[in-house]
Parts: sequence; structure tokens; C-alpha cells
Amino acid sequence: MLERLIEIAKQAGAALAGIQGSDLEAREKSRGQLVTRADEASHALIEAQLERSFSGIPRVMEEQANKGLPSRPYFVVDELDGTIPFARGMREWAVMLAYVEDRPTAGVIFLPAWEILIAAEKGRGCRLNGKQVRLGTARGLADAVVGLELNLYLSAEHRRRFIGRLSERALSIRSLACAGAAVAELLLGRTDLYVNCRGGKVWDFASGALAVEEAGGVATRIDGTPIAWDELEMDVLLAANAQIADEALNIALS
Ligand SMILES: [Mg+2]
Repeated sequence: MLERLIEIAKQAGAALAGIQGSDLEAREKSRGQLVTRADEASHALIEAQLERSFSGIPRVMEEQANKGLPSRPYFVVDELDGTIPFARGMREWAVMLAYVEDRPTAGVIFLPAWEILIAAEKGRGCRLNGKQVRLGTARGLADAVVGLELNLYLSAEHRRRFIGRLSERALSIRSLACAGAAVAELLLGRTDLYVNCRGGKVWDFASGALAVEEAGGVATRIDGTPIAWDELEMDVLLAANAQIADEALNIALS
């Protein structure tokens, strides 16, 4: 299955790369949520490919009406993660597919403009461009570069606890508006922690959480509890090691 998901992600990524820079007919489907004809083209391609290869398995895709989550297993798909940077001509955008059983067990993140393909399988590790990833950093928060999603949906409490307290202690903060790119930076050792408090959905995090865990890192909710994979709307904290996850959670939740 993973090999087929990789093929589909590559096809969609190539189609998207061909569309970037043309008239995207961008509009807001809701406040802060951009959709373009690129998202729709990728959706049509991926839907047809998944139907062809795995017709019996339900699909939860960003660019379709989803009434909650179907019973597991199912696929989750972000046809274009990072539509806003994509529409602005930036390089932080991805195609993400994951297969969710009791939890994600296969996942792909393809970043065409970065020429990075991440593929992970439960119990079989995480590969980045074919190379096994082992997160080895022992950095604490004082030496950390932190990826933090800054968006319209954050509450005052999120801003106070996470933006406020983490930016007071970390070496640096960056925000890419693309969960797939944030996961890639964590796996590459460029960042040490990624926090997305609100506005994300299951398709934003399934592949990334699996990839980080398979690389030896940590994936939890932002309250420190395990991810249950039973909700459409989600938050996530991904860390290169357990110490930095604990340190960040202790500071944010104290
Ligand atoms: Mg999307």
C-alpha cells in the first residue's frame, strides 16, 4: 500500500507543480481557508487513483464534504497542504496521504518544491528521500528552533501559553503555514519541536505524527495526552525527543 500511496502523491505533486504560477482562481471557502483550482485538480486525481486501487476503503479528504470520521480503517488526504504559501508562489506546500487503522499505519508527505518525499510505515521506520531517519538531537528548549503555527484560529489562551511562553524560552520560532513542511524540517533536524494548536484537521497530522514517531520522536496532543485519532479537528505537538516535549508541555501548561 505504501508504494502505491507514494505513486499517487508523486502524480498529484507533479500536477500541482505544473499549476503553480498560473491563475489559481483562489477564494476563501471559510475565513482563513483558501481553496484554488489546484486543490480541486489534486483532489480529482487522488480520488480517482484511490478509488481505482482501494475502492472499498472510505476516504476523508480536505476538499470534500466530511461528516465526521467514518469507521476505521480509512484514508486521510490533504490534496494540497499549504494552499496559502502555494498561491503566493512560495515553496512550502505538500501532498499528504495516510492510512489510518487504530492509528496511522502508512503515510506519505511529498514536498515537490523541496524535492523531499517522506514515507513512513508503522513498525518499519521513516524514510526521507529513501534514507532512514533517526532523530538524534538532545537539544532542550533553550537551544531549540520551534515551528509554531500562527493563525486566525488560536485562542487568547493558546497565544499566551504557547506563542508567549515558548517564544520567551526557545532560540527561535518560525511559522511556515504548511504542516508537511514543518514535519520535514523536524525530520531534517532543522527544528526540534512543532506545535499546531488549532485550525488543523486529521489530514494535516496523520502522516506527520506517524513519520515523527517512526523516526524516534514524540507525537501528542497539546495537553500532553495521546492522540486518539477519532476526531476531524485536531491539535498536535511533535518533538524530536521526549525531553523537549515534556519541557515545552510543562512550560505551556503550568
Ligand atoms: Mg489542503
